[in-house]
Amino acid sequence: MKKIETKIDIKKIKKILIANRGEIALRIIQTAKLMGIKTVTIYTEEEKALPHCTAGDEAYCLGSGALKETYLNQEKIIEIARSCGADAVHPGYGFLSEKSSFAKLVGASGLIFIGPSPESIDLMGDKKSSKIKIQELGVPSIPGYHGDNQEISHLIKEAKRIGFPVLIKASAGGGGKGMRIVNMESEFKQALEGAKREAQNSFGDDTVLLEKYITSPRHIEIQVMSDKHGNHFHLFERECSIQRRYQKIVEESPSLAVTPEMRAKMVAAAVKITSGINYIGAGTIELILDTDGEFYFLEMNTRLQVEHPVTEMVTGLDLVRLQILVAQGEILPFKQEDLKQTGHAIEVRLYAEDPDNDFLPSIGTIKKIGTTSLPHTRLDCGYVDGNEVTISFDPMLAKLISWGETRNLAADKLILALNEVVFIGVKTNRDYLKRILSLSEYRHGFTFTNFVKTYEDKLRPKKKSKEEIALAIAAALFNSKINGHEALGAQGEIKKSIDVWASLSGFRNI
Ligand code: ADP
Repeated sequence: MKKIETKIDIKKIKKILIANRGEIALRIIQTAKLMGIKTVTIYTEEEKALPHCTAGDEAYCLGSGALKETYLNQEKIIEIARSCGADAVHPGYGFLSEKSSFAKLVGASGLIFIGPSPESIDLMGDKKSSKIKIQELGVPSIPGYHGDNQEISHLIKEAKRIGFPVLIKASAGGGGKGMRIVNMESEFKQALEGAKREAQNSFGDDTVLLEKYITSPRHIEIQVMSDKHGNHFHLFERECSIQRRYQKIVEESPSLAVTPEMRAKMVAAAVKITSGINYIGAGTIELILDTDGEFYFLEMNTRLQVEHPVTEMVTGLDLVRLQILVAQGEILPFKQEDLKQTGHAIEVRLYAEDPDNDFLPSIGTIKKIGTTSLPHTRLDCGYVDGNEVTISFDPMLAKLISWGETRNLAADKLILALNEVVFIGVKTNRDYLKRILSLSEYRHGFTFTNFVKTYEDKLRPKKKSKEEIALAIAAALFNSKINGHEALGAQGEIKKSIDVWASLSGFRNI
């Protein structure tokens, strides 16, 4: 691709307010530090002990209360940014990152929004308008209905035209909310009511659209990056098919299912979209890949993605740095042909949840978090020992990422790293993630979006034999003795040691 150079003033950013929390706030601070940029973080009363409160150069308390009073309070956040002399705002992901009104307010306050224009957010943030635009651009999208007529009789007629199974989706949706699979006409009415109710509660808008439900698809997404000078790049694909409750838990790059020919078509479609809408900054074009190798546009996320580290690992690029360069008005410092996908990277999302109990979120005090000591592994974590995990925020504790020359090496290394990263004190999906990475179906790349359901039985924890339990207790006793405790007399210490050892070794049923 030829690089376009235009006249845009470069305005160096000196201080960024991060309108976010947890691991992504720490991630942005890391790059800002490397670039000599000061950072300002925000936090709520209950978060005072979390590391993002002290990791930046300044921090301001948002008070307490509902999210709309804190992380979603646009005026309060802009007021903090202006009064502390920040010249840019990074929204991270979630919260206000895809709210065009926030991007607009940041700009109107004389600050730089590190992200796309409000117009792009509006256009692509709505599943309906984005699908209409995508069709105009000639990129394949899933057959469906996204019209204004929301009469049930009309929607049933459209569902029959599309052909069952169909998927009902909230037009303003996100996070899998307001989605229902309908296998036959008789199920439609009830599913529609459920989807509309959930959409109204979550987004304040109950408009739905219908899509053909693709059976056994894969979720493939293309990372894109564009500057203000009309240069549009792709940073290859990620596969994020392994999901629970429509939310990703394992992501990787490259995808085993994508051949060089398919990749060429997918990235061309992605760049057609970004150049067709004059996009600026980082974004992700999500695609659904069916079992015939055909792909369809799903949606575009107009922000940095949770799973961006796998792209960073295989390309060697720092995506936050690129976002900042773009926001400053600079020309992206490479050509498309310079970019390569090297080796294989896998990310797992560590959640405070119970996979053995329908992934129910868990809470508690984190007594100990391990760290990863292996080369080419990375732990992006928003907590330190002693922090509380509450129900106030998303239960994601951390992301663990590994890189290897091959996919198997990356997966093996990630299992070892998961042994080191523990999160003692809260129930997590750590052992569940290890079981996914070890499963031969995973190793063979049978990674469809129904993976978790399909291999439900194989992913259940194995019952420990009596010998294994005895061995675990013996090791725990030995451990407490060599730690200088009066092991046999101190019941509490023994129990603690057993807990620690059990957690370290994956022995949870003792
Ligand atoms: P949200 O914005 O709520 O996350 P998406 O439209 O991105 O919803 O879909 C989330 C996930 O649901 C996708 O990754 C995919 O696994 C599944 N999905 C979405 N649309 C379809 C479809 N038409 N057919 C099959 N699966 C789908």
